[in-house]
Amino acid sequence: MSSPSKVLLAAPRGYCAGVDRAVQTVEHALDLYGEPVYVRKEIVHNKHVVHELEKRGAIFVEEETEVPEGQMVVFSAHGVAPSVHANAEKRQLRTIDATCPLVTKVHVEARKFAKEGYTIVLIGHEGHEEVEGTTGEAPERTVLVQTEEDVDTLEVDDPDRIAYITQTTLSVDETSSIIAALKKKFPNAVGPKTDDICYATTNRQLAVKALANECELVLVIGSTNSSNSNRLVEVAREHGADSYLIDHHGQVQEEWLEGVETVGITSGASAPEELVEALVTFFRERGADDVSTLTTVHEDVRFMLPGEIRKELLATQGTPAAN
Ligand code: SF4
Repeated sequence: MSSPSKVLLAAPRGYCAGVDRAVQTVEHALDLYGEPVYVRKEIVHNKHVVHELEKRGAIFVEEETEVPEGQMVVFSAHGVAPSVHANAEKRQLRTIDATCPLVTKVHVEARKFAKEGYTIVLIGHEGHEEVEGTTGEAPERTVLVQTEEDVDTLEVDDPDRIAYITQTTLSVDETSSIIAALKKKFPNAVGPKTDDICYATTNRQLAVKALANECELVLVIGSTNSSNSNRLVEVAREHGADSYLIDHHGQVQEEWLEGVETVGITSGASAPEELVEALVTFFRERGADDVSTLTTVHEDVRFMLPGEIRKELLATQGTPAAN
């Protein structure tokens, strides 16, 4: 049985401020209002987190139309289209919006560009909830682009009136190439003032690049539907390491460890730290005696809880609910 002697942990890794806020929102909602609290879609893309919240009484549904009239529903960190808010209002649902503020920023850009008459080129992955939510801000004006090839074949009514925005959890390098291709084809294309790819995605990709340079194998903890986690695997591979996405330590396969001296570990923005700890324990029990952290960036970002929760906490506990 081959096993690495050294474990290197990426920093930063794991929970971002938007995920932390979204998970705390559901926890507080359960404490403050009691069951049932419905949640539209997975609150964050992590199976473990969803199961833990289910155990506490959260009910996950795919659509707001599944929530019984008058009940409480939390919208996930990935954001929702305006039509979802409208449906919820029709059903007299009590809503709490846990959309990450950095996703909201992209929605605001979409609305602004649509109002100014631009065709919006949204760079992102088809079917991802964030993309569905952002597209919903101006569906008739938005086209989705996933690759440079999509840019090649893109045709628009007015090539001088193009604005691009992006999903928040894409590969930084790949997105720069797509934007460069877009600007080459449409020289007057405009974009947001600051990048839409969020700080957490950017920082975790920087950290995994550094990790890949030091390790033969990089394991990424995250769920298969987590966009930023999948990007971490790709980035690690592009930088020379073998890399796999796993939900938990039970999915590590013996053949991955053959000849590996140093294993790198990181986790997606929606993966809880306890899963990383369990993976470190797994390697310690197999003889790894050198566990250290490779820090590339120090993060200190926090978001306030949604207004509804802050108000309720203040009323019931007199706590100004910092998060
Ligand atoms: S990954 Fe970025 S955009 Fe998504 S919830 Fe976290 S901070 Fe917000």
